[in-house]
Amino acid sequence: MGNGIAGLTAADALRDSGFDGELTIVGDEPHAAYSRPALSKALLLDGGDMAPHQLPPTTHEANELLGVRASGLVP
Ligand SMILES: Cc1cc2nc3c(=O)[nH]c(=O)nc-3n(C[C@H](O)[C@H](O)[C@H](O)COP(=O)(O)OP(=O)(O)OC[C@H]3O[C@@H](n4cnc5c(N)ncnc54)[C@H](O)[C@@H]3O)c2cc1C
Repeated sequence: MGNGIAGLTAADALRDSGFDGELTIVGDEPHAAYSRPALSKALLLDGGDMAPHQLPPTTHEANELLGVRASGLVP
């Protein structure tokens, strides 16, 4: 799963529905997920400080691979 809101929500939904297997989130950006809408709105007023725009800490206990680009998928 990508390290955006869709990936994080999917991981949370899997946990909420009882899935307790291994989850891995792969994100090619080096930092934790953040609010993209803030890029064109709040961030412009905050002088580039992303701290207020991080998403809440995750609870899905997935392995997070940050700064890693996925090159394929084996379904
Ligand atoms: C500047 C801006 C302003 C926006 N403003 C609004 C708004 O006001 N209201 C609104 O509703 N929506 C807004 N959006 C849209 C909203 O942010 C997106 O709809 C939402 O982020 C989509 O989430 P997503 O998880 O599907 O994809 P993304 O947020 O794109 O997340 C996908 C993740 O996967 C990663 N990824 C992609 N390919 C790979 C790969 N091969 N290997 C590893 N990682 C990979 C990416 O780095 C990214 O972290 C805005 C978007 C932008 C860019």
